[in-house]
Amino acid sequence: MRILLAEDEKMLSGYIAKGLQNSGYAVDAVYDGEEALYEYVVNDYDLIVLDLNLPKKDGLDVLREIRQRDADIKILILSARSSVDDRILGLDEGANDYLVKPFDFGELEARIRNLLRREFSQVPTAVSLGRLRLDTKTKQVSYNGTEISLTRKEYGILEYLMLHKNQVVSAEEVTEHVWNNEFDPFSNTFRYHIHSLKKKLFTASNLDCIKTVRGQGYRMEDNL
Ligand code: CA
Repeated sequence: MRILLAEDEKMLSGYIAKGLQNSGYAVDAVYDGEEALYEYVVNDYDLIVLDLNLPKKDGLDVLREIRQRDADIKILILSARSSVDDRILGLDEGANDYLVKPFDFGELEARIRNLLRREFSQVPTAVSLGRLRLDTKTKQVSYNGTEISLTRKEYGILEYLMLHKNQVVSAEEVTEHVWNNEFDPFSNTFRYHIHSLKKKLFTASNLDCIKTVRGQGYRMEDNL
C-alpha cells in the first residue's frame, strides 16, 4: 500500500513516515500543498494523509482539488485545527477521516488500516487463499498454520496480489503500490523480490502460489 504524506513539520513528517514504513507501507513525504497535488497527479496512491496548514496551498484547497478529480481516494486529515467547525468542514469537503494533533501514532495507524479496509470492502483483516493466510494487521503470513518469514517488500507484494486475487496484476502496478518515489523502474529490484517471495512460498507449500502470466504480470487464485 502506498501513502502520500503531506505534512510540513519535518520532524513530525519524519516520525510518521518512519512508523508507516516500519509497518510495511510505501510512503512519499511532501512538505507543501503544491507538491502534494503534483505527486498525487503523477503517482498512484491508496491513501493520502493531509495536514491542513500547509505552505503554498492550504490543505483544504488540496482536498477540494483532489476530490474534483477522484471521489474514491482515501484522505485522512491531520490537523492542529481542533474545533468542531473545522472538523465538519474537512469532512464536508470530502475527507474520509480527521485526526487532531497531537495524536497517538497507534491511533493514526489504526485509522489508516480502517480506511484501507473500506477500500477493499469485502476483505477482512485476514485474507486466505487455500491454506495460505495473510493478516493485514500483524503483517504475518502463514501456510497451513506455519509462519513464513517475509521481508517488508515481499510482504507488500504478496498483500497486493492477494487483495487482487484472480486478477492479472502487472509488475508496474505492484511496484506503484509497494515502492515509493525512490524506486528505480530500470533496476532489477522488483524481479529480485518477487523471485525470492515465490521461492519462500514454494518452500512452505510446494505450490506455485504466484502464477506468472507471460507478458502481462502475475496472478494468485482462490483455489491454491
Ligand atoms: Ca502544518
